[in-house]
Parts: sequence; C-alpha cells; structure tokens
Amino acid sequence: MADDLTRYRLPDGEIVEVAARYYLCKCQKCGWTGSSEECGSSVSLDGDGDISCPECYHADCEEIDAPIVKGRKEGRRHAAA
Ligand SMILES: [Zn+2]
Repeated sequence: MADDLTRYRLPDGEIVEVAARYYLCKCQKCGWTGSSEECGSSVSLDGDGDISCPECYHADCEEIDAPIVKGRKEGRRHAAA
C-alpha cells in the first residue's frame, strides 16, 4: 500500500510522516506532536472533531504547521543535479 506521505520537520529536528488523509497535530497539554492517525478521536462526522493525544489522552490536539521535507524515504534515485 502506498499512501502518500507528507514528511514534516519539527522545530526539534524530528521528522514526522503523515499519511495523506491525516494531518500534523500537536497536543496542547503535553506537547506530543505527530500524525492525527495516532490520535484517538471522539465521534466526528466531518472529520474535524476533537482528537485525543496518544500520550496523555487529553482531547486537545490541534492541527499545526511545520516545514515539509521534500524527497522520498525509499527508492532513492540519482540526484538530478
Ligand atoms: Zn498529550
């Protein structure tokens, strides 16, 4: 399965991969940052409900922005320089 992954670089240098149908989010309580795929969610029909942190289970994860890392994780090709 080849979900499109977007790779984000967090301020601390960590790379987080987020599948196309998810988004990058951050827990407002403990600071956990990752794909919304990893979060639990309360029932939401429009996909925009509260999601809960997988670390502290606090339901206050918020979508955040981070620089996107270009390039692919696998199938590295010759650099087209
Ligand atoms: Zn948390």
